[in-house]
Amino acid sequence: MTVCNVCGKPLDAPVYIGDARSSITTLNKVIEGQTEVFHCQGCDHVQTAELPELERFYAEEYSINEDGLDDDQLYEIRDGTEVYRSEHQARVLLSKLDLRGAPKVLDYGAAKGATLRKIVAAKPDAVPYLFDVTSRYEAFWRDFAKDAQWASFAINREWTGTLDVVTSFYALEHIPRLDDVLAEIKSLLRPGGTFYFIVPNTYQNWADFIVADHVNHFSRCSLEVMLHRAGFSDIVIDEEAHASAFVVHCKAVEIQSSVRPEVSLSTDKVNRLAEFWSSARRHIARQEKDLSHGEKLAVYGAGVYGNFILACLSEPDRVACFLDQNRFLQGKEINGFRIVHPDAIPDNVTGVFVGLNPLTARSIIASVQSLQSKNIRCFFLD
Ligand SMILES: [Zn+2]
Repeated sequence: MTVCNVCGKPLDAPVYIGDARSSITTLNKVIEGQTEVFHCQGCDHVQTAELPELERFYAEEYSINEDGLDDDQLYEIRDGTEVYRSEHQARVLLSKLDLRGAPKVLDYGAAKGATLRKIVAAKPDAVPYLFDVTSRYEAFWRDFAKDAQWASFAINREWTGTLDVVTSFYALEHIPRLDDVLAEIKSLLRPGGTFYFIVPNTYQNWADFIVADHVNHFSRCSLEVMLHRAGFSDIVIDEEAHASAFVVHCKAVEIQSSVRPEVSLSTDKVNRLAEFWSSARRHIARQEKDLSHGEKLAVYGAGVYGNFILACLSEPDRVACFLDQNRFLQGKEINGFRIVHPDAIPDNVTGVFVGLNPLTARSIIASVQSLQSKNIRCFFLD
């Protein structure tokens, strides 16, 4: 029996079952097994069952941005300047938390600690602490935190009850045992200390709903239930500060209020997501049938949406390349296909499958001159 990671209630039948060929991870790898997504009626949490293959995936392949210190994900281009994800995360945190008075700040699941490094650069009296479940990042930590202030595999028990702030950036969506992790975070904080974290918002970026390594898809309601159960109060949830994400902060309390958060279910929105992804598969199959024999294709967007399309095609050999505007991806390969700038679309390509967030796909494609001027047929996911 599958139970909810947030409230422990047994889950009913899945609202979405993925195709055996298209269980995709955030790193765009197709893994074995069918993704099953559940909607908890007790707390509004949306949950993906863990696939057995995930363990091997984490052990062997999960190493985002390990190339070097400056290798980061592009968050946006603002007024012609590239803004990186860690930079934006640091800026948002500094706008929300008061870090005066030499606070001890732990990044829990820190990876390279890129965000904390930027926070400390802006607030030099903040004292950085780092923790991750692996030792592969220690080389990145040594030059900005003292030995007693970082730990791999298990947290340092001497930190218990002493930390002012614990942060977590894009970690909780991967963790099935939320109760254990939240209890540990709470135990590290001093009474009144702040837990600050970011998790994806599946309702704004629909790809989050199908990725196999995101076992948790939070809503405002399931976040409140989770934090209340774990002994936090003064919960503030911001859906605007970071694109397609919830930015959350709350305080550790000694005695939790007995007033439970009110539960309201996002059933319509969840059903819409499940229906979108189920029909996207059928939709791609129909579009592919309409193509003429030997017609060459490109897939626009080298992320989860584009790789989902690739996994759904019955004749992936028709694909000449991926198109992507992100210059960090151009020249690289994904699942055996080259990624090129949209202007470099090969002349023999007559159709483009658009692998972008459906909320913005049409307006983005309308602005791509090379597709418009060559009158290339575009196929959308919806
Ligand atoms: Zn639940």
